[in-house]
Amino acid sequence: MTYVGRFAPSPTGPLHFGSLVAAVASYCDARAAAGRWLVRMEDIDPLREMPGAARRILDQLAAYGFEWDGGVLFQSTRLEAYRAALDALRLGGKVFWCRCSRAELARIDSAVYPGTCRAFTAPRDDAAMRLRVADGVVEFYDRVFGPQREDVAETVGDFVVQRRDGLFAYQLAVVVDDAFQGVTDVVRGADLLDNTARQIALQRLLGLPTPRYMHLPLALNADGSKLSKQTHARELPTPADSGLLWQALAFLGQAVPPDMPPATCAEILRHGVRHWSAAAVPRSSSVRLA
Ligand code: GLU
Repeated sequence: MTYVGRFAPSPTGPLHFGSLVAAVASYCDARAAAGRWLVRMEDIDPLREMPGAARRILDQLAAYGFEWDGGVLFQSTRLEAYRAALDALRLGGKVFWCRCSRAELARIDSAVYPGTCRAFTAPRDDAAMRLRVADGVVEFYDRVFGPQREDVAETVGDFVVQRRDGLFAYQLAVVVDDAFQGVTDVVRGADLLDNTARQIALQRLLGLPTPRYMHLPLALNADGSKLSKQTHARELPTPADSGLLWQALAFLGQAVPPDMPPATCAEILRHGVRHWSAAAVPRSSSVRLA
């Protein structure tokens, strides 16, 4: 099977060092396997989007020397496919309509949905659509973290596939599009490791293939706080500071010249691909930056 990888940013803000790490790993893993590397813009949540961020992200990727195959897939153009997937789940009796408010759910002393609305199998106005999660352990193998098992009914319970405001859930869109694009390998941050079992459960219900998974340690600030777009981590400068690519490779445990000599982005990415070792990626959910 030919390798197909992808980088799937949400346009909630420009890329920062943490996103560069994910882009570098997914790119090098794909190219080292002579595979394709796709970019998918996960723009299905207008409320979280920052105007101009999608364009900025693509400019940043180009500036840092990334070349993607084919056009960028914007999830905002894929709503029909998500609707069709929901229809299939509905016809199979796999979903129900839930009007529980956030406040009501917050009062329950557990992160697991208690099944309050499971009886509502016909569409209701002003309701979210939840997947009726079956009991049973989902097992998968992560290329960094090894064998994983999760009983989704116990950890999250029936989860939302379409929000009350009509927006499609990330879990749904990501599995529909990974399958649509023929993605064989998902390489992304370890913050999504605990979303993977939910995604596999959905793939099984929709009859979609399960890709291989590889989760990467998250870059944290020196004080241990999260380096996210929301906390205004510094955006990747353009024109590119190519040394950040050396630092991303070093963060991923890859062999880099000790002096990290000045080089172009293209040269550093070529080095990254030539010397890529998935086995060298640290098996740790996060790594603090010096
Ligand atoms: N769009 C998600 C994010 O930016 C990543 C989705 C994925 O890689 O599955 O966090």
